[in-house]
Amino acid sequence: MTAEYIIVGAGLFGSVCACELAKKGHNCLVIDRRDHIAGNIYTREMEGIQVHQYGAHIFHTSDREIWEYVNRFADFNQYINSPVAVYRDELYNLPFNMNTFSKMWKIRTPAEAKQRIAMQVAELGITEPKNLEEQALSLVGTDIYEKLIKGYTEKQWGRPCSELPAFIIRRLPCRFTYDNNYFNDRYQGIPIGGYTQIVEKLLSDDRIQVKLGIDFKQMQAEQDIGDAKVIYTGCIDEYYDYALGTLEYRSVRFETEVLDTDNYQGNAVVNYTDRDVPYTRIIEHKHFEFGQQPKTVISREYSQEWSKGMEPYYPVNDERNQACLKRYLEKAGKEKNVWFGGRLGQYRYYDMDKVIREALNYVKTMA
Ligand code: UDP
Repeated sequence: MTAEYIIVGAGLFGSVCACELAKKGHNCLVIDRRDHIAGNIYTREMEGIQVHQYGAHIFHTSDREIWEYVNRFADFNQYINSPVAVYRDELYNLPFNMNTFSKMWKIRTPAEAKQRIAMQVAELGITEPKNLEEQALSLVGTDIYEKLIKGYTEKQWGRPCSELPAFIIRRLPCRFTYDNNYFNDRYQGIPIGGYTQIVEKLLSDDRIQVKLGIDFKQMQAEQDIGDAKVIYTGCIDEYYDYALGTLEYRSVRFETEVLDTDNYQGNAVVNYTDRDVPYTRIIEHKHFEFGQQPKTVISREYSQEWSKGMEPYYPVNDERNQACLKRYLEKAGKEKNVWFGGRLGQYRYYDMDKVIREALNYVKTMA
């Protein structure tokens, strides 16, 4: 089979592109340097539990079409993400809501919570938040910032909050109701049986060939790819051999353990917001699927600065990196046969639904 499209990366973006292109009658070759498909949404069974190997992925969207799209590939359960935050010996609900405020200040009504926050914000005199610290302080005041945001954010990003862009914290809702649902989206859930099967099905068309353990550069060196169109979902700067600068990422190291207990922390996600605890959070995978297994699997997440050879997870969207990205995107825009997509190709902090939406749009404009 000669491929009209070579898709580099068998993650969500590449697989949706392959599926849609194949549907339109195009032959696709999907390659991945890893020895498995599904990119970072890869899940693997351990002790009967679906373990999210590259960090927890919770599907949520308000885009009805995308929700219907993913439901064609898996049944989703009723999981609602309600993380808990531990700060020293104190425990709070996330996202910031009346449960958090009432515990923090021993108050009960939204008016009391708003008054507390307003008092703290007035003392600081911030009018136009210029960075994450000011944004967070003006949203929730000093107490919550100090206990639940500062340490966690500085651990996750390895930079002071005053040097981070405000938009990162806007991902986190703040509400004045007793509602612990982390997301504001209309649809939410975890695919029963894990994420890998979704990608398996996306790649199941006869017009799609998948080759694992192959690097694109290596493939190019070994064979002539002719005039095949390339959809590249790896790091855009790596594609150009870092010629226009290196984009920064945060990486995560996971310490995964099987424990001989049926319930370790009583919740899927527990954040450790204290700076002195070295990990940012502990994921107990079975709670994503209401598991009743006798054992449990937990993953501690240690955030770290990325360097070549590590897995890149989060783009660092500060000014330096944005300027560098702009240079790469300009160069990429001039390519005739190569398109860059997905979190690494676009260097964007994408949620899964946005990745699918982008992939569908890409295919529409492409074929
Ligand atoms: N955040 C925080 N405290 C928390 C959880 C999150 O301050 O307990 C902030 C932090 O700055 C983080 C951002 O909110 O970078 C977004 O967090 P989210 O959990 O949405 O990130 P992800 O799940 O993508 O790692």
